[in-house]
Amino acid sequence: MDPRQKTELVVQGISASNGIAYGEIFLYLQTELEVPAYGVDAGRRVEEIARFEQGLVATRQQITKIKNEVEHNLGPDEARIFDAHLMVLEDQALIGETIREFENTGANIETCFNNVSQRYIKAFDEINDEYLRERAGDLRDVAQRVLRNLLGQEAHHLGELAEKRVVVANDITPSDAAGINRSAAIGIVTDSGSKTSHAVIVARALKIPAVVGVRDLTTKVASGDRILVDGYEGVVIVNPTDQTLFRYGRIQTEKKTFESRLLAASRLPAETLDGVHVTLLANIEKAEETGEARECQAEGVGLFRTEYLYLNSSHLPGEEEQFATYKAVAAAFAPQPVVIRTLDIGGDKPLEGIPGLVHHETNPFLGFRAIRLCLEHPEMFKEQLRAILRASAFGKVRLMYPMISGVEELRRANTVLAEAREELRQRGERFDEKMEVGSMIEIPSAAATADILARHCSFFSIGTNDLIQYLLAIDRGNDHIAHLYEPTHPAVLRMIKRVVDDGHKRRLPVAVCGEMAGDPVFMPLLLGLGVDELSMSPPSLPAVKYFVRAMKMSDARKLAAEALEMDDPKEIYARAEDFYKARVKMD
Ligand code: PEP
Ligand code: MG
Repeated sequence: MDPRQKTELVVQGISASNGIAYGEIFLYLQTELEVPAYGVDAGRRVEEIARFEQGLVATRQQITKIKNEVEHNLGPDEARIFDAHLMVLEDQALIGETIREFENTGANIETCFNNVSQRYIKAFDEINDEYLRERAGDLRDVAQRVLRNLLGQEAHHLGELAEKRVVVANDITPSDAAGINRSAAIGIVTDSGSKTSHAVIVARALKIPAVVGVRDLTTKVASGDRILVDGYEGVVIVNPTDQTLFRYGRIQTEKKTFESRLLAASRLPAETLDGVHVTLLANIEKAEETGEARECQAEGVGLFRTEYLYLNSSHLPGEEEQFATYKAVAAAFAPQPVVIRTLDIGGDKPLEGIPGLVHHETNPFLGFRAIRLCLEHPEMFKEQLRAILRASAFGKVRLMYPMISGVEELRRANTVLAEAREELRQRGERFDEKMEVGSMIEIPSAAATADILARHCSFFSIGTNDLIQYLLAIDRGNDHIAHLYEPTHPAVLRMIKRVVDDGHKRRLPVAVCGEMAGDPVFMPLLLGLGVDELSMSPPSLPAVKYFVRAMKMSDARKLAAEALEMDDPKEIYARAEDFYKARVKMD
């Protein structure tokens, strides 16, 4: 070994943006600003408040400029991050409290603003909710900017990076990310962060390999050290040895070849080696995702999560607005099917903008959500049902109810649907009289009574995301117990088998639209258990199709039969993983 070679350090973080990068570190440390504290004479108080207002205006101008640049370079979705920042600047609670603190204490406005914003940041940080923690990041970013403007200090930003470097930072704010020069920043590594932090979203959009959550890496490295970033596995290696570099050189070539093979194969039919066609559908949240779903060769939409029309909205979308959206999606896919799921609000998707609809609950996942809420608000529910029915005249629409727990809810929902049909007939509106109506199976009581439910609907779609959380009593969003969320638990496999068998007895097709469907390791188990259709987020489609084409259905059936005889979730997972690895070789 070369004596000048520094020791190799391997650190596991969280994979945030795929790809491999290798280069010199640019250490980017954000230090908190020093805010001087002093008293302001009573005679200068009006001036001081005016100075505060000017600081806010200057900050608004800077953020608007960044937003426009990002919109131009990356697109409207990435630029939306800065709307959240602009909203911070308009937050009357934050501004009002700062002025009140100033009037009560007479301290300079920077000190008052810093105190108030720090209190808010701390409050957000302490709430165990990833979304709110991200909002703390937004607030921190904006507050620093306001303070810099008040103190007349220039900010350094990543845009100044001129040579190709891997940026290693304690944190990267959205404004930092927006300033990233993509030809210079070849990789990004941060001490903090999660898969959904804004900086990561930008890194993904720029296709820059990124790893986050590497804890205190910034205290162990220096600018100029060499680092390898493995965005696939979420690993970083500081001062890699020649052997490591050689190994990663091969991995990179393999990944690139594999990705281009996936893309090339995605236009071929989704057919197993023994000639069985597998229907692969897309999950979408917005009408705009139709394009990507089609590009990824989806054979239709297996789940349209309509609640996203209601989320982030200050009003309930009316029949016409909903009709226009559903019609656009139905027409884009016609004659292929589009499964429109009725409002699944509540739980992890609170309707914040519309007061009075969802109330604070101690156990929101077990609370007033989805079909329960719709049945209590039949007029609102009917508005959605009429919109879906009318869209059925423009394509092959199927309607699906979420969170059905038993036959009573299904019957009641169907009664409201019959009323909606009758109202449309009275109005002389066109709709598909034979539109199929299905039930999601995502509550254990529904799975256990699937034979009864099958008499009242025409298809099932198993929502494994919720089914697993309710069956195993594991909150699907809680990262502390994420290791216990096991899709290969025998209870889960038996439940799926039971639903498939009960559905098939009455000739109902059975789909899976939870995340399990889009994971190539679980996919053969589902098909082997008899699932007819798989619906997943569009980017998962090429890899799943590739594997469908590499396996035999008869083997998948054997795998599922074996799994049903096994008792350990980890062993079942290992068996399914071996099945995958034996068939999909990356070289
Ligand atoms: C599910 O629960 O598996 C599902 C597809 O629905 P959602 O993720 O929207 O709850
Ligand atoms: Mg669900």
